[in-house]
Amino acid sequence: MGRKSFKQLFYLVLLLAFLSVISVGCGGKGVYFVGHKGTRVFHRPGCKYAPAKENSVTFMGAGKAQAAGYRPCAICDPLGTKNKSE
Ligand SMILES: [Zn+2]
Repeated sequence: MGRKSFKQLFYLVLLLAFLSVISVGCGGKGVYFVGHKGTRVFHRPGCKYAPAKENSVTFMGAGKAQAAGYRPCAICDPLGTKNKSE
């Protein structure tokens, strides 16, 4: 008794964590971006070129990153110019 419900809870938590990662990775509205302090390029958080935490700056929007003098990454395309769906 109890062991099975614990397992279900574990899977539920795992599912919620997974969904939150997806919603950030897909670049929905209100998403944040990470800028590299050295290269002055900003990325979507899921980009493989996103900087390590010690070199990164977080921007709550692409406009803020650009205002701070950061350029958008050509790989993860934080502005969504390559594949515009709107
Ligand atoms: Zn990138």
